[in-house]
Amino acid sequence: MSYETVYAIASGKGGVGKTTTTVNLGTALAQAGERVAIVDADLGMANLAGFVGLNPDSTTLSDVLAESASVDDATYRLAENIVAVPSGTSLDDYAETAPEQLRDVVDELRSQYDAVLLDVGAGVSHETVLPLGLADAVVVVSTPEPAAVHDSTKTLELTERAGGEVTGLVLTRTRPETDVSYEEIADQLGLPLLGTIPEDPAARESVYAGTPLVVHAPDSPASAAYRQLTADLAGVDVLNDRPDGGSESGSGSGTPPADDSDASADATRDSEAQQDDVSSAITEAEAER
Ligand code: ADP
Ligand code: MG
Repeated sequence: MSYETVYAIASGKGGVGKTTTTVNLGTALAQAGERVAIVDADLGMANLAGFVGLNPDSTTLSDVLAESASVDDATYRLAENIVAVPSGTSLDDYAETAPEQLRDVVDELRSQYDAVLLDVGAGVSHETVLPLGLADAVVVVSTPEPAAVHDSTKTLELTERAGGEVTGLVLTRTRPETDVSYEEIADQLGLPLLGTIPEDPAARESVYAGTPLVVHAPDSPASAAYRQLTADLAGVDVLNDRPDGGSESGSGSGTPPADDSDASADATRDSEAQQDDVSSAITEAEAER
């Protein structure tokens, strides 16, 4: 395990796979024996709870940031070695939060867990910038789409201004028939390519099941890619150390890949990057340092 504890999973554009990456990186780390907390720091568009089958009506990070609950109250055990801190999904919850308090929450979790993964909101608002400066390592997530790649440069800029450090790029929803080189995309951004996650219908199915992809369909291509990413990023052995005793080549009990005929349907569910005032967000983030 590397010595970096707090990871921010960030992107310029919304809907590129940040929450999917947070949940599956976290779960794969837990499967490798690390004690992990995954945190929904996407305060405006919180949806991590649904990915892991939690009820967002319970006590959440929003209550902690509104100073009406403790971090412990908002921490839920998901499986062995992994807990989640979900956020509230209502606009009222959001309105009452004081994102500055996130620093204390992160400090507390840092002292309790081997790895803390922050699922950060897209865009350039205050609560997006803050976690970038609190993390030891920012992981930028993008699809190979030019618009998403372009928006990644905003995340790089914001991370620098927030005093954080970008570790590298994860490209998600990659397709075999594409003619762009993923290394070239990473080069364009001046980042190491940490991993690529293929387009895989099992990703969406796992959300409907409320179960992390690497548990729901461990033998799917995207699950294998998430385990590889976890091994490469954190230096842990997840590839031959699966809970079911399976290996990458084993037959396992995963869901067989399904027909991908309506893959475009989720494009409509993808959230748009919030376009808040850049300069005020940055000023506030700098004041936090
Ligand atoms: P973000 O948190 O960046 O908004 P999500 O993780 O919520 O992105 O993913 C957006 C949508 O894309 C979801 O419907 C999710 O199921 C789908 N998705 C994510 N990764 C993949 C993948 N590798 N293959 C297919 N669909 C994916
Ligand atoms: Mg998300």
